Amino acid sequence: MIEKEKLLEVSGLDVFYGDLQAVKDVNLEVKKGDMVSLIGANGVGKSTILQAIMGLIKPKAGTVTWKGEVITGKATNKIAQMGLAMTPEGSHIFEDMSVYENLLLGAYPKHAKARRAESLALVYKTFPVLKEKEKQTATFLSGGQRQMLAIARAMMASPELIICDEISLGLAPVIIKDIYASLHEINKNGVSFLLVEQETKRALKHSDYAYVIVHGSVVLEGRSSSLTEEEIAKVYFGVEQQPREEGGIV
Ligand code: ATP
Repeated sequence: MIEKEKLLEVSGLDVFYGDLQAVKDVNLEVKKGDMVSLIGANGVGKSTILQAIMGLIKPKAGTVTWKGEVITGKATNKIAQMGLAMTPEGSHIFEDMSVYENLLLGAYPKHAKARRAESLALVYKTFPVLKEKEKQTATFLSGGQRQMLAIARAMMASPELIICDEISLGLAPVIIKDIYASLHEINKNGVSFLLVEQETKRALKHSDYAYVIVHGSVVLEGRSSSLTEEEIAKVYFGVEQQPREEGGIV
């Protein structure tokens, strides 16, 4: 079997906020074409890991490598030029701008500007509701549409990897289902994903590989098809949360 290309590699990552160590010796990787999930409850360091990858936070130790090149310490806009895009927790769309203007802002990396028309066509094919609402001010979008816009804006950057921070947060199951279906469509077009997801069952269902984070460290990892909710609950949730009944999660 041909080994897939390693896109992203994080090794020995330590991140502090003052005296608080939020991330401890984290190692993870994303191979080309894969959907990888980071599973963990509130406050275990998932967003911090993503922000360190994107150059939004400076790690105290460790390296982030993109296609063999160390990118630790690079500015976020330089990292975006290299083919990584992120949808932050809470979508962070520009409320006063139209959907279309929000999308155009996503195409800021040099390589993405040249592909703007092509990317926009793909975005509208993936999320037809954004085409319908392209002239509307983003502030009037529903929670699900905001999340779609955030993902679409990341797509406009023509990335090879999209990093998504808790895209299902606060959304109805039917909307979450649609959004994940769209992610798989985008993935089929060759884009890899690193997804933060709190819901174990959903994370395993929608990823090829998963990392379980507890108190800033990876405590369990493996192919999503070989990990079980039970073993994750054992190492991770303890008595906090028991695995759900079959069929509860989209
Ligand atoms: P959530 O699911 O709530 O977003 P998370 O797993 O993404 O949680 P982080 O947001 O990375 O966790 O936070 C990890 C730890 O770092 C938490 O204890 C949090 O309170 C702390 N923390 C996060 N951001 C800051 C900050 N800017 N200053 C100080 N501490 C922070």
